Amino acid sequence: MSSTTDPERPAPEPNGAPSTGPWDQSAERPEESPAGRDRALSRRRVLSGTAAALAGAGVALTGEFGYAEATADSKLPVYGGYAASVHADRRTPPRSSRVDVVWSVDTTRRLIALTFDDGPAPNWTPRVLSILAQTDTPATFFMVGRRAREYGRLVAHRLDGHEIGNHTWAHQDLAKMTYEQACTAIGRAHNELTRLWGREPTLLRPPYGHLAGSTLLAANDLGYQVVLWNRQMLESRFTQNPDGLVDYIVESCDPGTILLAHDTGPADRLVAIRGLAAMIIGLRRRGFEFVTVSELMAAATPAATPAH
Ligand SMILES: [Zn+2]
Repeated sequence: MSSTTDPERPAPEPNGAPSTGPWDQSAERPEESPAGRDRALSRRRVLSGTAAALAGAGVALTGEFGYAEATADSKLPVYGGYAASVHADRRTPPRSSRVDVVWSVDTTRRLIALTFDDGPAPNWTPRVLSILAQTDTPATFFMVGRRAREYGRLVAHRLDGHEIGNHTWAHQDLAKMTYEQACTAIGRAHNELTRLWGREPTLLRPPYGHLAGSTLLAANDLGYQVVLWNRQMLESRFTQNPDGLVDYIVESCDPGTILLAHDTGPADRLVAIRGLAAMIIGLRRRGFEFVTVSELMAAATPAATPAH
């Protein structure tokens, strides 16, 4: 009995055949779909494929199909590598039952969270803070730990009303890190940002929006939720058209939007800083209220009970 219920064993593919994933389970092949239908079909295809894989797993586990065959097509370590979302010792449970990955927040209220990544930086972050102060606008800064150590004194006295999130110690790509490496990158920044802010950050924004299983496990164990974004400043597209960027941002944001901006980087990103006040005014004219990411998450509409 234990061999059929061992949670440490990866589920073998159904039918004992190597598979590239749930796509193979669909009667309809992707290339047969008209391009316009791909997006609508993809979710159904994935869901039906998952159901087939789950149904098949039970059958395969009771048959001849073994561990070696089940893992033969994986080029990644099952435990201990960056893809692993369980502890390598196979005994330590995650600290809590779940970790959220948030792109935006479901809310009927016209709330928006403005976020700035990669700072703090000389000139940039003080300039952003001045615009936010002049317009009485709260924001969330996902800071890089070592930049906070170097430049934190430039902003330390100006963070009231704003939220500080964790953007790792040195802007590393968490998707290429083991659990231990991810814990170090997040934890070291956590300590520095806690010193700077006087409170403990609870939101992690992974650099580049890159995630691995180890990222989720590390975020969970360190008490973080993962915050991405669903709208972003398109600085490089609007470098020569600052009014166009203002219009794009003002028109494209929805209730619950998490908007990505940067408070350091190449000079072409300055187009967003120059237009920031106009964007804030324009969004307020559309009835939007600015809140921090944590405030936005707290305003989420309770999820409806799924229909059965
Ligand atoms: Zn970044």
